[in-house]
Amino acid sequence: MKAAIPSERHETIRQELRRLLSERKWAVNALSKAVRLSEKEIYAHLELLRRAGLLSIVPAECGDCRYAFAGREKAKKPSKCPKCKGTYINPPLFTLKSKQAGTAISL
Ligand SMILES: [Zn+2]
Repeated sequence: MKAAIPSERHETIRQELRRLLSERKWAVNALSKAVRLSEKEIYAHLELLRRAGLLSIVPAECGDCRYAFAGREKAKKPSKCPKCKGTYINPPLFTLKSKQAGTAISL
């Protein structure tokens, strides 16, 4: 039997996040509500997935001029458009990278 370690809830959350992310694209605020974690915690989890090469990111986009924050590798949402200085930014969306058929990521 596995001992009750403090990271147990995190394991559960990670599984939950992976399941959700494998189903569709998510904005961080929606994920935050879905798994009841703060956005800060969601970002931390997403960052781990990103570093593991599992995360596919749809870049944030300026709502005014459609500037795409494509080169942006960080999971964090930018606060301002470098082109038009607009602050209405469509948040980045996150999903799991499509895996090869039949090879499910071990949950
Ligand atoms: Zn802009």
